[in-house]
Amino acid sequence: MVLTDTHTHLYSEAFDEDREAMMQRAFENNIQRMFVPAIDSSYTESMLDLEKKFPKNVFLMMGLHPTHVKENYLEELAHVKGMLESRKFIAIGEIGIDLYWDKTLLQEQKKAFRTQIQLAKQYQLPIVIHCRDAFDEVFEVLESEKGDGLFGIFHCFTGNKEQAKRAISYNMKLGIGGVVTFKNGKIDQFLKAINLKHIVLETDSPYLAPTPYRGKRNETSYLTEIVAKLSEIYQVSEEEIASITTENSKAVFGV
Ligand SMILES: [Zn+2]
Repeated sequence: MVLTDTHTHLYSEAFDEDREAMMQRAFENNIQRMFVPAIDSSYTESMLDLEKKFPKNVFLMMGLHPTHVKENYLEELAHVKGMLESRKFIAIGEIGIDLYWDKTLLQEQKKAFRTQIQLAKQYQLPIVIHCRDAFDEVFEVLESEKGDGLFGIFHCFTGNKEQAKRAISYNMKLGIGGVVTFKNGKIDQFLKAINLKHIVLETDSPYLAPTPYRGKRNETSYLTEIVAKLSEIYQVSEEEIASITTENSKAVFGV
C-alpha cells in the first residue's frame, strides 16, 4: 500500500525537535509520497534541505500563502518567480484567499492569487488552493481564469456539496484531511455523493490533527486516520482508498 499526503508542512518549526523520527513514523505507516506547500520566502531554505534529505519522498511546491500577503507581497511574488526560473517545482501553492484572519488586504490577496495562477499556467503546473471564509472570492477568481490550463487541488476542502461540485468543475480535486473525522465537520455527510476519483488525501500537518489527536500537533503518519474514515464513508477497503487517491495525486502532480 502506498499512501500520499498531498499537503504537509514538514519544514514547520513544530518538527524541529523530532523531524527524523516523525518522517520514520510516516514511512512505517506507508506514506511514501509527501507534497510540501510553500508559505513565504522565509521557509525556502528549509524546504530545499528537506528535499535533499528525502529526494524520493518529498516534493516541493512554490508559492505565497494568502495569510502571508503583506505590504511586501510584490517582493515575495518576485521570490516565487525567481525560484520557478531557477529549478523545477511540482505545483504552485499554497495560494488563495483567507478572510478569517484579516480582511483588510483582500484586494492584494486577490491580486497575488491571480498572478500565481497565471504563473502556474505559464509553467503548466497545478495550483493548490487555500480558501478560508472566502468561497465567493475564490470562485470569482477561478471563474475568470478557468480553462484547460487551470487544474489542481482545493486543499482542506470544508465546503458543502454544491461548493464541492463547483470546485470540481474548475478541474480541482478535493483535498480531504482531519476535518472529515470531526463530529461537527459536516463534509462526511455528503462526501459519498462525490466520486472518489475527485478526492486526494492530506494532513495539513502540523495543523488540523484528525480525531483522536484533535487539538494536538498533527503529523503525516496520522494520514491513516483519514484513510480509515474514508473507507467507512465509501464502504471500500483501505487498500482501495490508498490506491485510488495515490493515482489521483499522480494525475494532478505528474509524479
Ligand atoms: Zn497548508
